[in-house]
Amino acid sequence: MDGVPEGDTVWLAAKRMDTALAGATLTTGELRVPQLAAVDLAGATVTEVVARGKHMLTRFADGRTLRTHYRMDGSWHIYRPGVRWRGGPAFAVRALLATDAWQCVGYRLHDVALVPTDREHEVVGHLGPDVLGPGWDLDEALRRLRASPDEQIGVALLDQRNLAGIGNLYKVESLFLTGVHPWARVADVPDLAALVTRARTLMLANREHPAQSTTGDTRRGRDHWVAGRKGRPCRRCGTTVLLGDQGPDLQERVTWWCPGCQATPVPVDPRARTGLPGTEPRRARY
Ligand SMILES: [Zn+2]
Repeated sequence: MDGVPEGDTVWLAAKRMDTALAGATLTTGELRVPQLAAVDLAGATVTEVVARGKHMLTRFADGRTLRTHYRMDGSWHIYRPGVRWRGGPAFAVRALLATDAWQCVGYRLHDVALVPTDREHEVVGHLGPDVLGPGWDLDEALRRLRASPDEQIGVALLDQRNLAGIGNLYKVESLFLTGVHPWARVADVPDLAALVTRARTLMLANREHPAQSTTGDTRRGRDHWVAGRKGRPCRRCGTTVLLGDQGPDLQERVTWWCPGCQATPVPVDPRARTGLPGTEPRRARY
């Protein structure tokens, strides 16, 4: 896997943070990023911690919201006071939110921002419907996806402006389970609602625990259909699973698929026909 957190990982982390901090007053509140180094959150009371897509929002009773994002490598660790921290070197700590009972340590966090709660839209307002959010709106997600009918479905599912929370694992696994080739155009996906619903179902099934099984089998090596299985036989049809890079330059993600189970429609990158550089499916690895 490429290590990019999925929405269910952030959802579970927010739930655990909420359990530890909601209703409590911070004894220590440090943000170890240059632009917020002077902020002291000690004395602030946490009202709740929620996930919004892959963003985490820690809301305070004084009307402020702390937004953090994992991106590729971030994480929050929760410890009892006195327990040795194990998330990495001290210089990797970006945030420390502590109460008398818990110490929440944020390692390698990105996009750390403190905004008025009534202006959260300025940091997360661009996101599409939240796959795991209480206000999930399938029709709006489909409308946003269909607004770019020529986009590759494997790229569109990761665009958080379409829908928020899907990462690479649930992208490739939901495409496999619905028989859709990652390079198919959005407009060519036979049942887009079924695809999106499948991704959401997988995330709902996994959000309460750290394991991320899409097969129903949590044993290592048996927990995914195609993700991480380049060169091995498809669990359904025996065809060799392929691996390729997909997405805009600098944002491309590895993509696994079974050419037997995901044979239709024929994958065509419409932008490749324009002759624009860098738009053809690249470096497919067999
Ligand atoms: Zn197959």
